[in-house]
Amino acid sequence: MQLIFEKSVPGRNGVRVPLSDVPKASPFPDALRRKEPVLLPEVSELDLVRHYTNLSRRNFSVDTNFYPLGSCTMKYNTKVTENAGGLFAGCHPFLPLLPGGERLVQGPLSLVHGLEQQLAEITGMDEVTTQPLAGAHGEMTGIMVIAAYHKARGDKKRKYVIVPDSSHGTNPASAAMAGYEIVTIPTAPYGDMDLEQFKNAMNDEVAAVMMTCPNTLGLFNPHIAEICAIAHQAGALTYYDGANLNAILGKVRPGDVGFDVIHVNLHKTFSTPHGGGGPGSGPVGVKKGLIPYLPTPRVQRKGDGSFAVEAHPEGIGRVSDFFGNFAIMARAYAYITLLGREGLIEVSEHAVLNANYIMARLKGEYELPFDQTCMHECVFSASRQLQDGVHAIDIAKYLIDRGFHPPTVYFPLNVKEAIMIEPTETESKQTMDLFIDVMLEAARIAREDPEALHRAPVTTPVGRLDETRAARAQQVCCE
Ligand SMILES: *Cc1c(COP(=O)(O)O)cnc(C)c1O
Repeated sequence: MQLIFEKSVPGRNGVRVPLSDVPKASPFPDALRRKEPVLLPEVSELDLVRHYTNLSRRNFSVDTNFYPLGSCTMKYNTKVTENAGGLFAGCHPFLPLLPGGERLVQGPLSLVHGLEQQLAEITGMDEVTTQPLAGAHGEMTGIMVIAAYHKARGDKKRKYVIVPDSSHGTNPASAAMAGYEIVTIPTAPYGDMDLEQFKNAMNDEVAAVMMTCPNTLGLFNPHIAEICAIAHQAGALTYYDGANLNAILGKVRPGDVGFDVIHVNLHKTFSTPHGGGGPGSGPVGVKKGLIPYLPTPRVQRKGDGSFAVEAHPEGIGRVSDFFGNFAIMARAYAYITLLGREGLIEVSEHAVLNANYIMARLKGEYELPFDQTCMHECVFSASRQLQDGVHAIDIAKYLIDRGFHPPTVYFPLNVKEAIMIEPTETESKQTMDLFIDVMLEAARIAREDPEALHRAPVTTPVGRLDETRAARAQQVCCE
């Protein structure tokens, strides 16, 4: 493999740098001056264009192929929402700080306010903050808001947060970051949090219950309203992990079911290309009683219809700069506005239909641990293939050879050899049929020639990695 800077040739150049206009007698002390020239690759424009174009061809994206990564909602993001994201590129985030600056940013402020209202309407909450920069960041913000609420009431003994064992790992992690101890409730054979064990764990030392519904098995919990009522009876608050709303848009509003706090991932449900760790946006919505504790500042609409940035003194403080990841908010605002109520309902209907189609066509060959109608994703186990020595990871790697991004594997943790497939609403039946054919082919190869699956992938620039070593012993360049 070629080193990234191996193309450098001294003196070769692709740009003309303007002459320096810094006076010779520089104000910088000698100690701060660079002694040696900076080490930059010296390449021509063509070398540079080829370098990045070739790198981009090794990248996998929704724009190139099917990407059924469960829980991540890798839907196609239309170019029209991309354009909306770029519209504000010329607007400096410090503009509101200038004298009279708020007048210059009425458009962006009305967008923040409008998006907050759209999200409040979709989720059934009373107010929303757009500050958090990711789902996990939203969870931590939401739990901090809950902690501030209990504290303000002088309710000091609550030190636990309850999470089901199927929860996304960020749930217990964020609650722990906010200072709570975690109580984990196992999944019952019917696929949801064990109700009896939950009731036993509930007491006046529990600050909050964090639920994902549909859960990470793709199942909608029929006891969800009862769970909220039980939590409220004990004085605890209820937190809804709405990282992925794809199954419930326009169908169920968590606020109506009994949830007090929610975060949503704009980068999953509401149109933003994501993956590889960013960028993200995890707005948090709350019910009335919690509004005082939202982060500061807030965008408020004044009597004359204009928008102002106002301090929110009782709140938990700032959780990010400005109002969060603005370009992502602009995409989400465009997405929600374009689709409208009917469009959003269709999004969830198609997402659920697609997942059930894949589930129905694969369950003859793959073990389905919880055999019921699923929501926006379905979770198989490679346990039958394991009898021939083939693991979920082998099937995942084989899919790469056949041009598909692997589904999520080994999550949720309560399913052995889990394969979690989320097609999203943007995929056609033809694309899903191709994927299903390859999954069935993988099951056949697992029976007939398991070794072939252990060798995959064979078509990629880098073959099977030692993933533990790759994560622990990272190198800046490849050798
Ligand atoms: C993705 C996801 C999260 C975390 O979101 P990030 O933006 O990656 O921090 C939390 N919960 C669920 C259910 C998710 O799918």
